[in-house]
Amino acid sequence: MTFVPRTLSALLAVTALLVSGGAQAEFPDRPINMIVPFTAGGPTDNVARSLAEAMRTSLGESVIIENKAGAGGTIGTAQVARAQPDGYSVLLMHAGFSTAPSLYKNPGYDPFNSFEPIGLVVDVPMTIVARSDFPPNNIKELTEYIKANKDTISLANAGIGAASHFCGTMLFEALGVQLLTVPYKGAAPAMNDLLGKQVDMLCDQTTNTTQQIDSGKIKAYAVTSMKRVPTLPNLPTMDESGFKGFEVGIWHGMWVPKGTPKPIVEKLLKSMQAGMADPKFQERMKQLGATVMTADANPQALDAKVRQQVPQWAALFKKAGVEKQ
Ligand code: ASP
Repeated sequence: MTFVPRTLSALLAVTALLVSGGAQAEFPDRPINMIVPFTAGGPTDNVARSLAEAMRTSLGESVIIENKAGAGGTIGTAQVARAQPDGYSVLLMHAGFSTAPSLYKNPGYDPFNSFEPIGLVVDVPMTIVARSDFPPNNIKELTEYIKANKDTISLANAGIGAASHFCGTMLFEALGVQLLTVPYKGAAPAMNDLLGKQVDMLCDQTTNTTQQIDSGKIKAYAVTSMKRVPTLPNLPTMDESGFKGFEVGIWHGMWVPKGTPKPIVEKLLKSMQAGMADPKFQERMKQLGATVMTADANPQALDAKVRQQVPQWAALFKKAGVEKQ
């Protein structure tokens, strides 16, 4: 005999049961939003779009990129911290996740308590680059030129807390200078102004600079990894150029809001891992100088990374005298 609810409340209860049970079992049953806290066409966006595409098959739904740029990535990150913990708002952010708490009085999220970590995705080296007609031709000349012209050189960045900002801070520390910094909402508009020669220099990830370096549209001086980048073999490392220990690797991770149910986190994790294993994703990342972090594509590794990085950056900014704003 078929069960027929006799009262309105019984009907509602049955409907609620079906809806909640069904939604959990079927996650996702609509497109997922992947929030990128920087502008479209920049380094983080490049990683996110490739990953979103690669995750589609295993999810059976599309992953739509939402660029929520501003304040060095804190606006978009905070938006995900406040979002419904239902798996439909996913954050793709980089190392700036752990610098912002030392740079903003209120970054809008707590790196330890606002999210469920999913896992690490890629590690991206940075490059020190300049407009094509910037006088110095190599890292040695650049060092001398910066020291002699420190009051007239401008360095673009993607806002306080962005990778380009903390790479710049490290460069200033190493050279004992403080250049004029020009903040943008992402490295894409910063790169546009570098190409247009409106700013002099930028420290930016290979996921944004490789093509421009290869086509000779910008000058490149060094990479910030300890080893040379295979796709940019002629670029020396900062370490081999006399900046001993100058290393910046921009790890990227994926998070969902705190309280997202475990089965949903698991599903996203499996899909992220499948996406990272996709040969197309791997090839694209290789071309852009990024390393796919397969062994660390899990919540424990991302959690450990954040716990190690937050105090490390706090110490560096303190040493550099950078005040919270
Ligand atoms: N990741 C930023 C972007 O995608 C740039 C940065 O962090 O410097 O624009």
